[in-house]
Amino acid sequence: MSDGALSLPDQTHAPRFTVAQAEALVAEHWGLAGASATELGSYQDQVFRIDPSDGARVALKIAGAQVERAVLELEHAVLRTLDDPEERPLGALRTPLPIVTLAGEEIVAVGAFHARVLTWAPGDALAGGGFVDDARARALGDAAGRLSAALAGIDHPAARRVFQWDVRHAAAVAELARDHLTDDEWAMQRRALAWLAGVDDGALPRQLAYTDLTANNLLGAFAADGTFTPTAIVDFGDLVHTWRIADVASAAYAAIAGDPARALELTAHVVAAFHDRQALEPAEADALWPVIAGRAALCGASLAHQVRSVAGSSEASAAYLDTFVARDDAALRAALAVDPIVARAVIRDACGLAVCPVGAQSDAQLAALDPGPLLDGIDRAALMPVDLGVGTSLLTERAWDDADAIAAALAGAVPDGAYAVGRWGEARLPGAGRPLQDPRPALHLGADLFVPPGTTVLAPYDVRVIADDGHGAIELESLGPGRAPILRLSGLEPLVGIDDEPRRGARLGTVAARAVAAEQAPLPAHLHVQLATTSGLPAAGDAALRAAWTALCPDPSPLLGVDVSAPPTPTAAELVGRRERVVATPQHLYYREPTPMVRGWGAWIYDGDARPLLDMVNNVAVLGHAHPAVTAAATEQFALLNTNSRFLYAAMAEYAEAIAATLPPHLSSIFFVNSGSEALDLAIRLARVATGRHDLLAIEGAYHGWTGAVFELCTHPQDNPGWRGNLPASTHVIPQPHPLRGALGPDAEPYVDAVRAACAAASARGGGPAAFVAEPMLGNAGAVSPPPGFMAAAYEVVRAHGGLNVADEVQVGYGRTGETFWAFEREGLEPDVVAAAKAVGNGHPLGFVACRPELAAAFDAHAPWFSSPGGGPVSCRVGLAVLRAIQSEGLQENAAIVGAHLKARLEALAADHPIIGQVHGRGLYLGVDLVRDRATAEPAAGEARAICERLRRFGVILQPTGDHDNVLKVKPPLCLTIDDADFAVDALERVLVERASTL
Ligand code: PMP
Repeated sequence: MSDGALSLPDQTHAPRFTVAQAEALVAEHWGLAGASATELGSYQDQVFRIDPSDGARVALKIAGAQVERAVLELEHAVLRTLDDPEERPLGALRTPLPIVTLAGEEIVAVGAFHARVLTWAPGDALAGGGFVDDARARALGDAAGRLSAALAGIDHPAARRVFQWDVRHAAAVAELARDHLTDDEWAMQRRALAWLAGVDDGALPRQLAYTDLTANNLLGAFAADGTFTPTAIVDFGDLVHTWRIADVASAAYAAIAGDPARALELTAHVVAAFHDRQALEPAEADALWPVIAGRAALCGASLAHQVRSVAGSSEASAAYLDTFVARDDAALRAALAVDPIVARAVIRDACGLAVCPVGAQSDAQLAALDPGPLLDGIDRAALMPVDLGVGTSLLTERAWDDADAIAAALAGAVPDGAYAVGRWGEARLPGAGRPLQDPRPALHLGADLFVPPGTTVLAPYDVRVIADDGHGAIELESLGPGRAPILRLSGLEPLVGIDDEPRRGARLGTVAARAVAAEQAPLPAHLHVQLATTSGLPAAGDAALRAAWTALCPDPSPLLGVDVSAPPTPTAAELVGRRERVVATPQHLYYREPTPMVRGWGAWIYDGDARPLLDMVNNVAVLGHAHPAVTAAATEQFALLNTNSRFLYAAMAEYAEAIAATLPPHLSSIFFVNSGSEALDLAIRLARVATGRHDLLAIEGAYHGWTGAVFELCTHPQDNPGWRGNLPASTHVIPQPHPLRGALGPDAEPYVDAVRAACAAASARGGGPAAFVAEPMLGNAGAVSPPPGFMAAAYEVVRAHGGLNVADEVQVGYGRTGETFWAFEREGLEPDVVAAAKAVGNGHPLGFVACRPELAAAFDAHAPWFSSPGGGPVSCRVGLAVLRAIQSEGLQENAAIVGAHLKARLEALAADHPIIGQVHGRGLYLGVDLVRDRATAEPAAGEARAICERLRRFGVILQPTGDHDNVLKVKPPLCLTIDDADFAVDALERVLVERASTL
């Protein structure tokens, strides 16, 4: 390929038409008199949106003077082919079509420039979405693949041009832009171009390529929940006959620019989707990362040239270009940060190609070498693999952050005389450390032999030392026949140096006293044994890219003579598939693409890839996940006795006393149940038995559980969408007293009137109300506090009508709201029945009902009652442990302090982000009410879901709630720290900023 004729357009080539000129042009040639033109940002040409006085919107494109007419003819020929209604080669994706002038021409010469009018393609640019995630990366790859397949059969002489945007000419472009690049930029260009120069040009298939699948050129429809459905591809100005992979490279580069920290993962999605439409050959897969880097370099250099040499281009174009400068820089850096060998493995895996042929033959190659012992004086049989994976039972209570605790656990895990071995291919917690936004790689690529420091390490076969990092890691190349992988040892005090050739059985060094390789902290002293198909690979990789990493660093079991491989864990897709076959479908999952959750600790949850996620939604784990007191209480009592609640044992009395001590004296009778639904069901029965009445009052938008009786109160639009038609006449619904959207306004009195009316209606049906059932703070409505005085007045009215008042404290009770232990206390209420669950067992199925003794007595006269495991010994011990921990750890106070901080920070965030309409709630039960418009408080329902989906990317678990699914429900474990709260708000801020930005 010759770069000879390449030149970059400068300002003399740039069209500078004014809006008025554009309007005159379309009027004169296309008959669009009275149309209004708006200039859009563009690179080297000018684009105007034309809105005719009548008829459909079109685009006026004025090409730069350097663009030959033949190229525009090529573009039009391609657009006509792609638009063929018979073939529809792009499926549902649309493309623009040229519109002829009054004189029947498609192209009009205006001075040195050529103007065209094209149909307006439907949709919004993906760039407007602010980021690229897996699904969007797949959309980019799919569009690029369809396009590449559609272009394969088209040839045109004008496509065989020497062209700036042909990635093959990236080096020439860099030279031409050299004067406009900083030294740092130039250094990055050089690195990327060196990779590109290594591409085997002759091995890459060529065809007509579009070369410009950017987030600006892929249009689609954004649903409010963030899903993007592609509708069109625009801007066919960069067509050129070049490498076929130019298209997948541009799509991958667009994805990388959309989230540079996830460069490789996003590329894998782009490539897999592309490959489904247009299969990549192995040579193409192997060349792709250097070509992506080349594309990144090309974009950076071209942009620098454009921005810094073509001063005075139109304002719209200058602003448009500005947005690219930082983006291109970050994306190029991200591409260069990845080892191309690792990228190649990931790309091959995404294409379903053999990931790493050398790695695949590793077993046979090693067997041929017949390796001798690696450790002097330690028999292979003494090596015992142990589980250090995310789900290990060896390490609890965050022991994974503490080398001494790990050492103790390992010593206890193997018999005397044996040595623990950390397994290959395991995603591990040690090293995950304090949760980070970009966690450390967790997938261990070697076996860790926890043998005594000083143990002599021997050469298992004849080797040459090819690397020594000076920090206890060496790499050894086999001198035997075949291509055995490199042997990488770390945690060593080496006795050999570079280029030494120790023979089989020769001493390589001794195991160091401390784990010296920084990447393995905080493990105790050990020898890390890793096979690697190439030099310089790290000890751990990204668990999300497991297939690639484990192929690059094959299983060292054949070397060690012991199976040290971790058993495979099911993938998310496998688990979802299995669930779908046997788990009843109404049991929905959080997240569009859920990942398996394995472990919890405090306010954090770790997924199967050892990725830490801050659990901001889990009101069940009130103390935090895996609380040791709860674990101990449950295991100790399980080991002693667990039976139904009709035997006599101490725990029930003790627990009931402890509960009663948290409640006002009149609520001294406790029933034990298994769940919130059961608790509310029982509460309703108590009320009906005691009053002899049937009718119930509930607040609109409530959820109190799923049993037949309780569901008759359910008016939550998500949980009972058809409630307006399916409630019995005995249910009386009070309009929700909501500060932003209450049907009767923000004040209490109209809602109290509604309670009066409901009581009157119940009386009119005969009898009157049995009970008013309500959460004292409306948790399911999104942590909404009713207007001051409402609850107390409602209780009064109901009582005056002979009904009972039931406080549902399943969500809002147990210290969560900070100021008071029970939410009803803050309202000054005196409920007749209190129902509690969720937090009560910290996840153990347990709840209770507390009531006036006379209600229990009335019930007893009617029927006995029991719920088998509810008040059983284990449940009571667990319940006691939870209550005591809340008290001894000051969790209610913590909820008040951290909750106030969190609320203040969220409210401060609202100042910059109008989508935050109001922050409801108190303590650690908050609701971030998202609105489309503060004036109307229109709920931003889909947006809330989109934000929650995206928050997981930044390590935070949150879910929407509320009648409109527009409230972020903030109800984390009460052990949440100020740091955790800041982490969550920072992540939310990142997501909100990202949403408002354009790629
Ligand atoms: N009451 C309220 C206020 C609830 O939020 C729930 C559950 N979300 C229940 C009762 C029912 O509890 P469970 O799921 O334990 O049956």
